[in-house]
Amino acid sequence: MSAFDIQHYDIATTANMTFDEVFSADDVKCTSRFDSPSYNEQQADIPAMAPISPCYSKVSSTSSAANSITGIFSSIDCKYHIDRQVLGSGHYGSVRECIDRVTGQRCAVKSIRKSDPAVKPVDLAREIALLKEMKHRSIIRLADVHEDAEYVHLVTDLCEGGELFDRIIEKCDDDNGTACFSEDEAAKIIYQILTAVSYMHTRGVVHRDLKPENVLYETADEDSPIKVIDFGLSREHREGFEPPMSTVVGTPYYIAPEVLKGRYGKSCDLWSVGVISYILLCGYPPFNGANNNEVHAAVQRGRYRFPSAEWSGTSREAKDFIRRVLQKDPRKRMNAEHALNHPWIVQWIANHGNVDTNARENIEDDRQYISSAKSVFRGFPTSRRKS
Ligand code: ADP
Repeated sequence: MSAFDIQHYDIATTANMTFDEVFSADDVKCTSRFDSPSYNEQQADIPAMAPISPCYSKVSSTSSAANSITGIFSSIDCKYHIDRQVLGSGHYGSVRECIDRVTGQRCAVKSIRKSDPAVKPVDLAREIALLKEMKHRSIIRLADVHEDAEYVHLVTDLCEGGELFDRIIEKCDDDNGTACFSEDEAAKIIYQILTAVSYMHTRGVVHRDLKPENVLYETADEDSPIKVIDFGLSREHREGFEPPMSTVVGTPYYIAPEVLKGRYGKSCDLWSVGVISYILLCGYPPFNGANNNEVHAAVQRGRYRFPSAEWSGTSREAKDFIRRVLQKDPRKRMNAEHALNHPWIVQWIANHGNVDTNARENIEDDRQYISSAKSVFRGFPTSRRKS
């Protein structure tokens, strides 16, 4: 079976899955878009008009302050013109393009309806606080926040190139005999995600929902830089200073086995990076099933293969990278610094000295960062699992 067939098989068999279920915080909280029906339904439900609010005073009234997330009510449409067309929608809101009425700058605005039962004020406040902290070229930048009686609007940089998810579908739909992304293309994406993950983890932030839907391209160019988005399930966690996290959150294909067990740390993000790497190189997920339970069972078994049809031409380094992040035991899994020092990634950095000035400067910064991280890659345990 070709990568093309498997990709379609996968999507066809998951068509009736309800991965968009959002369970309570104490239960499993899952979000995914491999299940296209609910995504489209969600889009259909979204009002055609952008939520426009009258120009409230900046100071909240007593009655509105009671249900305020940010503590300040201000009208988004006084500052921005919001486009009607929805760029994308997730669990908690729809995203549209907006234009700063003064500067003319184009941004994206995610409008979250506060009365939506799935929206918990404490989670939303946390997403805003975490996003405000994140200042990294591969992480979406929060430019502005507005709140009115009905909505909280998060204004971020606009990513015009769409989701990594869609590029996977496009590339792997292309039945031209090549398996999905080339190693070079995949390593470039993974390298950028890893620098973002390393940045988050250094600051004690765990994303907990890394997946191709949450990786956006800045522009439509094939080699556009990417940005990690959606900190809706993220949290701060000081490993070693507080007990392991226990809330089961994430998305079936990408969720780490220890998360399903309800006892985990930041390395759950590296597992998701491993799953994304695998998919980029072959076009289908390493852990699959006909429904959530089957996918979860496959994740918990932690067994996967490199079928020769798609993997025979893949380098040893790439497979070794995947083996070292898809380690079921999180203690044996590479951390972000180890992963950035892995030969597959280091080789990509070494081969791209002649990229544009900005990218070259970024790579130089990263080189210094990596060497100062003192991570000794050799000595890191390899999986004994045959795959
Ligand atoms: P939610 O938290 O509700 O799940 P997301 O933040 O994941 O919402 O955004 C939903 C979708 O909206 C994304 O998958 C993407 O397609 C689109 N989107 C989000 N942020 C941007 C952005 N900055 N630029 C362009 N599109 C975006």
